[in-house]
Order: sequence, then structure tokens, then C-alpha cells
Amino acid sequence: MHTADVVVLGAGAAGLMCAIEAGRRGRRAVVLDHADRIGKKILISGGGRCNFTNVNARAENFLSANPHFAKSALARFTPADIIALVEKHGIPYHEKTLGQLFCDHSAQQIVTMLERECRDAGVRILSATTIHSVTNSGAAARFLVETTAGTFRTNSVVVATGGLSIPKMGATDLGYRIASQFGLNIIPCRPALVPLLFNNEDSQRWCDLTGVSTEVIAATDGKHPTRFREKMLITHRGLSGPAILQASSYWQPGGTVELDLAPGSEIIAPLLARNARRDPASALNALRAALPTRMAERWLALTPPADWTNASLTRFECDLHAWHIPPAGTEGYAKAEVTAGGVDTGELDAKTMESRRVPGLHFIGEVVDVTGWLGGYNFQWAWASGASAGRAV
Ligand SMILES: Cc1cc2nc3c(=O)[nH]c(=O)nc-3n(C[C@H](O)[C@H](O)[C@H](O)COP(=O)(O)OP(=O)(O)OC[C@H]3O[C@@H](n4cnc5c(N)ncnc54)[C@H](O)[C@@H]3O)c2cc1C
Repeated sequence: MHTADVVVLGAGAAGLMCAIEAGRRGRRAVVLDHADRIGKKILISGGGRCNFTNVNARAENFLSANPHFAKSALARFTPADIIALVEKHGIPYHEKTLGQLFCDHSAQQIVTMLERECRDAGVRILSATTIHSVTNSGAAARFLVETTAGTFRTNSVVVATGGLSIPKMGATDLGYRIASQFGLNIIPCRPALVPLLFNNEDSQRWCDLTGVSTEVIAATDGKHPTRFREKMLITHRGLSGPAILQASSYWQPGGTVELDLAPGSEIIAPLLARNARRDPASALNALRAALPTRMAERWLALTPPADWTNASLTRFECDLHAWHIPPAGTEGYAKAEVTAGGVDTGELDAKTMESRRVPGLHFIGEVVDVTGWLGGYNFQWAWASGASAGRAV
């Protein structure tokens, strides 16, 4: 039988940050992970360069049934805090776009940084360890954690096992199962930041243009707080690229995605001039100002102005700024960057991430119903929720 002040389940961004904060306070922290190496998602993140934060991270950049829940943790551990840690370790980084900070060299540097901080804080990390069960101990300590490395007796369990995305990297539903076992509510999970699939008709219309990319404004119908002006990419099965991934987090099955294919420009205006030629060649020429040639040709072929009157040209312009796509679905957890939904924030204390029903049981990171936009927000949530719990356990 081992004893620890805190047992953290999952050695990802959130779990490691939590253990570091707890260890610095003199708490005996143990981190358990079934994977053979820690921080696997950090290693593949940001194309191998880890977009470790976004300098503009605010609660508005997250989806959650309670949009205010993330505020407290985000204020407790800010982008400046993770930047200070990255700088302390001499890791060079740069701002790519829209406040997104990436390592200049490799995501491995972030994992090494966390490992060193764990070592300095006296944190024990046990990888390749299967977690069999977490139960109330009923004795002096609150919980027993049964694992292939033995049984741990502890007063605090922090669940940091992440979401369901990329199962082949070791994602499991353990965190949700533990939450259910202890009677906590779970907001239904769904893949987010995920490519969308065309329906059959749109597949036939567009999929031969795989690889074509253009800037759009993407929005979903329903309650959508914002629109995303970024790149869109046609794939062999549907649409991807940052604009689509962002919109996918808000898309609900049965809903549509609306794309403005010519953000901020009026394409047809020149054709409306008194002596302008009104024919496919001049329309194509105008469209090329906004779209790659192949896409411009296809758009014109599929939605030609009915006659070349002012009314039909105006309609053509409107359609270009509001292409409604009813996706058939998403690429699923195999391709999703994150999982939306998760442990209901109504169950948790926003300062400590501790369960209101089960003292000593905390949930942090992606397993919680807080899902960030694309662009470093999800790691900022992992750091912030991890640090908040680590200061409380
Ligand atoms: C391809 C890709 C790229 C990404 N790029 C970025 C980016 O650049 N910026 C950004 O902000 N976000 C990015 N994300 C999202 C980000 O990686 C996650 O939101 C973040 O890692 C969540 O941290 P976490 O600690 O909660 O969970 P995770 O990092 O998923 O860690 C969970 C840990 O728990 C372990 N675990 C799971 N189940 C069990 C079990 N049954 N027993 C024991 N251990 C278990 C796992 O092995 C893992 O180590 C990316 C995601 C993907 C998939």
C-alpha cells in the first residue's frame, strides 16, 4: 500500500501542471498514466510545435454549458504565467497569428519543462500504469486507487484523463466513468475542432477539388456567438481548415454551416456597371479576386446567374456570401482535436475544481465541460484548471 497526499490520474498538460503546483506546496503528489510516455498530446500539438497558449484567452473563447465557469481559473493562472514558465526554461517561442504562441523548435521542450518542474517539486510520475479502480476508502484517507503499480491511499484524487479524441494516442473514457460512478452529471460529449463531412450531393460537387483552400467567414446557425474568419480547406470527404474546425465546435447535427466565400469584398459590383460585359468570362474574372481559380470555376458552374439581370447578379453575390452547407456529420473522435461536453461544471467549485458532492475529488482539463477555440486556448484551460486544483489539494 502506497500513501500520497494527492493522486493525479493522467500525465497530460492539466495533470502535470496540477502536480507541479501541489508539489511546490510540499504535497506528496503522484501522477499515474497508462501510456508509456507522458504528455503525448503535447508532443503532437500545434504540428509538433505546441501552441501552448493564446495571449488573448478569455472565458468568451470557450464553450461550456456555463459560460462563466472558466473565468475564475483563467484569472488565477494566466497566459503570462505559462509564458513566464516557458521563459524560465529558456524555450524560444513566437506569436504566429491571432495571439497564438508556438515553440520555435519542438513541443518536446514543453514536455521536458514539465518533467523538470515535476522533478524539482518532488512529484512522482508513474507511466505505463493501468488504473483499475477509484473507490471511497472509508478509512482515514478518503480514496483508494487500485493500479498495476499497487494501491494508493489518498485524500485527494484529481482526474485529468482528458477527452475522447484520438483514441489511438491513449484517450479513454476513464474520467467520465469515475464521474458517473460518484454520481456527477455529465454534459453529453461530442467531437469538436473536427473536420466536417459533405453529404453525397456536395461530395460529388466538390471533393475532386481536394487541397483547394481559401479564406472564408464561417458561422453556424442557431445561437452562435461569433464568426470565424480564417482559412477553409476542401478535403476528399468534406471541409477542414481552421475556419471549419472552429465552426464545427458549435455545429449541431441537422444544422447548417454558413460560409462567406468572399469576406469583405463585393465581387459582382464591376459587372453591374453600365457598360460592363455580363458573361461567364467576366464573372469568372471577378470571382478570381476572392477564390482560387478552380473553386471560382466550380462555383460559377454550379450557381450561374439565372439570366444576367441586375436581380440575378445581386442574388449571385448574396449566395457567394452565404453558402449554406448541411454537413452529413463530422470526422469523429479519430480526427477531432478536442471533446466538447464532459463533467458538468455545475458539479465543480470554479476555484478548486473540486466536486461539490464528493470532497477531495477534482476534475481538470479536457474532461471538464469547458472547450476552447482553436489557437492555444485548450492548453491555457489545461494549465489554468490544473494550477487551480494543484493550489487547493
Ligand atoms: C492533434 C492535436 C493537436 C492539438 N494542438 C493543440 C494546440 O496546439 N494548442 C492547444 O491549446 N490545444 C491543442 N490540442 C488540444 C490539447 O492537446 C488538449 O486539449 C489538452 O492536451 C488537454 O489536456 P488534458 O491534460 O486535459 O488531457 P490530455 O493531454 O489528453 O492528457 C490525458 C492523459 O490521461 C491519460 N489517460 C487517459 N485515459 C487513461 C486511463 N484510462 N488510465 C490512465 N491514464 C489515462 C492519457 O494517456 C493522457 O496522458 C490538440 C489536440 C490534438 C488531438
